[in-house]
Amino acid sequence: MSDFLIDAGWVNLAYVVASILFIVGLKGLTHPRTAVRGNLTSALGMLLAVVATLLANGLDFQWIIVGALLGGVIGLVAATRVQMTQMPEMVAIFNGFGGGASVLVAGAAFTIAAAPTAQMTIATGISGLIGAVTFTGSFIAFSKLAGIMPSGNIAFPGQKIFNALMGLGALACVAWLTVDPSAVMAYWIIVAIAAVLGMTLTLPIGGADMPVVISLLNSYSGLAAAATGFVLMNNVLIIAGSLVGASGIILTRIMCVAMNRSLGHVLFGTLGPSADGPSADDVYGGKVKATGPEEVAMLFDSAQRVLVVPGYGLAVAQAQHVVKNMAGILESRGLTVEYGIHPVAGRMPGHMNVLLAEADVPYEQLLEMDQINQEIEQVDVCLVVGANDVVNPVARTDPQSPIAGMPIIDVDKARTVVVVKRSLSPGFAGIPNPLFAADNCLMMFGDGKKALQELVEALKEN
Ligand code: NDP
Repeated sequence: MSDFLIDAGWVNLAYVVASILFIVGLKGLTHPRTAVRGNLTSALGMLLAVVATLLANGLDFQWIIVGALLGGVIGLVAATRVQMTQMPEMVAIFNGFGGGASVLVAGAAFTIAAAPTAQMTIATGISGLIGAVTFTGSFIAFSKLAGIMPSGNIAFPGQKIFNALMGLGALACVAWLTVDPSAVMAYWIIVAIAAVLGMTLTLPIGGADMPVVISLLNSYSGLAAAATGFVLMNNVLIIAGSLVGASGIILTRIMCVAMNRSLGHVLFGTLGPSADGPSADDVYGGKVKATGPEEVAMLFDSAQRVLVVPGYGLAVAQAQHVVKNMAGILESRGLTVEYGIHPVAGRMPGHMNVLLAEADVPYEQLLEMDQINQEIEQVDVCLVVGANDVVNPVARTDPQSPIAGMPIIDVDKARTVVVVKRSLSPGFAGIPNPLFAADNCLMMFGDGKKALQELVEALKEN
């Protein structure tokens, strides 16, 4: 046992300060200009909370140091090795680990409790339920994002009934545990059922609905932590978990509204549109027109308004800096350059904003989808860089498509569209895109960064 023990009053004061830092940090995260400071403020709050907790309980530090070192090394390697494009997968894993940690901490605290109260027992059951759903659900989401598993919906007959029965079974075990807190076995049955439920709830969600499920799992990890806070009666864990849970729910709602989906449809819509649509040959056969950097540079000669629509491929190619270079050249020639930002472009909420902010693209030049769609007919050249699903007109035209109903940036309505990508391969939703075969569309095949560097050279020579 440690001799460093600080008074409970000081610990609570540290928790209050930490909670204020979390809230101030979250406020900072609401705007790109203050986001970095907001992140650091919240991290400082977390450091304070961790130090206060370590000094409060007379803990034996031996295993804590082993765990912190191990986790620290894994975190350090992940932070330095993981590419920007792999961040969403990493966030999915972190959400999963958050849920898993809640399951283990709540289970351990409950197992060693001499006389668990009703509140502790119920909180333990809820923590096990939400935590295990988050753990396995996040790993399915990770596998879909990493391409280990197909990204579409994977369903089996009677899945909804199966899920409902599993959910009821888990709740019945929470009731069993509440009535008989000595039945620790009930807790592990809850965890086992919830682990299966996490998989069967997430497997059917695919295609365009993935962004919603990722923010929802993020919210679940917070709710599981808050429930564990009630198990331990630790105020700062309750507050931090509630903040994560609430902000995850708010983000989920924003994503649902942006994608014109109801949460119910995302979670239970396994009988929705199927992926059996027209083949790539039907859509593209003989209709695709390829172009090169010189021709595109000439297009800009007669243009006044240029719109860049970035997508996941921009992140893969790390083409944000060269896009900014190109925009600088065009602006120096009197053209207006703007960026059309789709809320689910890329693989995580705000992915394009982060990339373009990295290249110091002025925030005022980023236009939201609704705004740019109203003016898109006035755009002379629309340069789509590595975007596919978020500019696929079948979302408007084909109710059977896996992305049916998802609002898109209507780039097909611009005067001329140039699409920069390596091939005619599909995007995340796995479907062909008739935009590439449209009369007003030219395909500039190549890696995003390399193709745009060639375009910059051609512009300089022009
Ligand atoms: P897509 O995934 O639809 O398409 C990306 C395109 O980028 C591909 O067609 C690919 O074509 C191209 N690409 C890949 N590498 C490069 C490269 N090096 N250079 C140039 N192009 C490249 O991306 P969008 O951004 O349009 O759409 C996002 C999709 O992801 C949506 O379906 C969304 O629902 C989903 N999603 C979004 C999340 C979010 O929170 N934002 C989370 C989870 C999923 P090619 O191989 O031919 O180059």
